[in-house]
Amino acid sequence: MDLTDITTVKRVLSRHGFTFSKSLGQNFITDPTVCPKMADLCGVSAGAGVIEIGPGCGVLTVELAKRAAKVVTIELDARLLPVLAETLDGCRNVEVVNADVLKTDLAALIEEHFAGMPVYVCANLPYYITSPVVMYLLQSRLPVENITVMVQKEAADRLCAKVGERDSGAVTVAVNYYATAEKLFGVGKGSFTPAPKVDSEVIRLTPRREPPVAIADEKRFFSVVRSAFSQRRKTAVNGLSSGLSLSKDRVAAALEAAGLPVSVRAETLSMEQLARLTDALFE
Ligand code: SAM
Repeated sequence: MDLTDITTVKRVLSRHGFTFSKSLGQNFITDPTVCPKMADLCGVSAGAGVIEIGPGCGVLTVELAKRAAKVVTIELDARLLPVLAETLDGCRNVEVVNADVLKTDLAALIEEHFAGMPVYVCANLPYYITSPVVMYLLQSRLPVENITVMVQKEAADRLCAKVGERDSGAVTVAVNYYATAEKLFGVGKGSFTPAPKVDSEVIRLTPRREPPVAIADEKRFFSVVRSAFSQRRKTAVNGLSSGLSLSKDRVAAALEAAGLPVSVRAETLSMEQLARLTDALFE
């Protein structure tokens, strides 16, 4: 079955009474070039396992199944289960799990399904939970080779920005702490059914073996990062003071102790400077 042929896909979906849910981020790829390219670029090979998030009608799943030893794909919408039973009928190496990815113990899933195999994550993410999913995948420190995901273009800019540069935000710092991030290729809105309002980008996150800076207390570091970036385009003092419940004088003194100007803005801070600032704030 050609899952990039709109007529075929619509026929299967309507046979199962399926209608697209905007709130679940259901925009399915119908451009025949996108999924093979994504599956190739994620680097999965014959001995490997893949976790997919949100198979939809299975258009990316079948490409992953052709290349991997095994695919476990996690779909929240139970209405898609009978659809997937039909579209993935020929794929013996695919298991569909009906669950919310954010409530799934992925480390346990890897142990159960992929013991001894290199594991990849490859997905066209539901955009309403892009950052929570990316952070969940990275913070769980899963033993995965890489995470190759399609996200909205604006999210790709933020996730792949360099720390200390204009597009960076709290999520940029967090991603960079756990992984290196790169953009692979752009995908126009016309590649989906129904077409979303914005263009997309496929990105690859490769988990680091060691963090780029030594941090004594990650929880404190990330609360400083979140607070510093909470009032975008303003000086970091305000966000740090309200986010950490510290007086502005105390924050100003910590900035000075870390060798930073009081007027500094969060998006100009390097990872190293944020680490030093955390030390100074909690000394
Ligand atoms: N992989 C398909 C494709 O590329 O055409 C569909 C991608 S669509 C952008 C996102 C998919 O994620 C939908 O099938 C949606 O039902 C599913 N989804 C939404 N929220 C989810 C969640 N919390 N956990 C797992 N799947 C979810």
